[in-house]
Amino acid sequence: MELRFWGTRGSIATPGPLTVRYGGNTSCVEVVTKSGRRYIFDAGTGARPLGAHLMANVPKPITGTILLSHTHWDHIQGFPFFIPLFIPGNRFTVCGPQGANTSLPEVLSGQMEYTYFPVELSQLGADIKYRDVLEGSEDIEGVRISARLLNHPATALGYRIEADGASLLYLCDHEPYWESLWHSEAEPGKLESILHDGDRRHAEFMQNADVVIHDAQYTPEEYPAKKNWGHSTWAYVTRIAAAANVKTLFLTHHDPTHDDDFLDRVEASAQELAASLGSPLKVFCAREGFIATFENQPEARVKMNVVKTIAPTLLDSLKILVVDDDEDLRVLVRKTLTRVGHRVTEAESGRDGLQQIASELPDVVVLDLNLGDIDGFEVLRQLRANEATRSLAVIVLTAQGDEESAKRSFEEGATDFLAKPFTPPQLDARVRSSYTRAHDESAKPESKPQS
Ligand SMILES: [Zn+2]
Ligand SMILES: [Zn+2]
Repeated sequence: MELRFWGTRGSIATPGPLTVRYGGNTSCVEVVTKSGRRYIFDAGTGARPLGAHLMANVPKPITGTILLSHTHWDHIQGFPFFIPLFIPGNRFTVCGPQGANTSLPEVLSGQMEYTYFPVELSQLGADIKYRDVLEGSEDIEGVRISARLLNHPATALGYRIEADGASLLYLCDHEPYWESLWHSEAEPGKLESILHDGDRRHAEFMQNADVVIHDAQYTPEEYPAKKNWGHSTWAYVTRIAAAANVKTLFLTHHDPTHDDDFLDRVEASAQELAASLGSPLKVFCAREGFIATFENQPEARVKMNVVKTIAPTLLDSLKILVVDDDEDLRVLVRKTLTRVGHRVTEAESGRDGLQQIASELPDVVVLDLNLGDIDGFEVLRQLRANEATRSLAVIVLTAQGDEESAKRSFEEGATDFLAKPFTPPQLDARVRSSYTRAHDESAKPESKPQS
């Protein structure tokens, strides 16, 4: 498959003399298989020059699959400027995660209303199909596409594509689930030493890949002030890719404040880190216009189960029970989640929570650790011991944001662990991803982490 970067910038397009080498256009990556199938990851402003290139150089009709990670501006602003969409006869499938109570075409047409743009979505001349997608895998004509939820304050998907004997992942936008990647007493560098289950799943998704293209918007120094904004540091990405035995890593979604000289230093630091880890990982900062071909590396394939995709409509209005002895927190969670359409009930103690779960099984439980009577660990233990609630989605949401609490929560069977304070879109995204995970256990790769 051939890879080409059309947009490598995050947040907002940043043209100018200081960004000519790494590029100023926002997220857009093109992958073309040897058989000629075209995949376009995100439609940031880089989709405009890509469209012009296709119009000039590719035989008509032009066909392709546009895989949107999510619908934040920097990932869709080039969509209305992607000329092939205007031409009758061209055929595109646009895939992306459903927004809160809004379908993908509704979100895309929102930015094309007359107030913002002169042409409406319905006026585009090409044959365009839209697909709301979630976690899962699909084989189409020898190409396997897998999708996984990322950690971002919006429902965002990462994609893995396997074709021509090579595998490539596009993982934007994503933030570490936990500040430190490793258990403090475990040996760093191994998948089983990863502290948060979310980070481990993320590593497993990219395991043995030939190419990973990953959000690395921040430096480790910048990150503390930008926590919960949904982006990674180059150090996290380099470490997790090295542990996952990735061959080539492209850091992307460059911050608008990082000019070419700055990104030279980021690249050198990431290469130094990879070398210091004893890893053969090759790491680069993605450059607009860069082209590379990857093929015939069959050992790089990781088998993923083909999983059924949950009907996205199920995520519109989940039944959620919040178990917390703090009334203010219960009200905050209820307001946050009812605003986006979920139905929320409350329990004020561990026993009350267990009773309510037994009488009316919710879709997702948001569970505090410190409860008046029995603690959250005991609630988890009882839920997991019971056949009816063994796979119930449970998010631990706690002020106890220490490593030991996270570790114990996962040992007792938590689906996810989130330390307070949280932001509303973050909690909604984690509720949706926990529900999806709890119903899609088969999405785990067949291969075991390497020891
Ligand atoms: Zn972004
Ligand atoms: Zn985003």
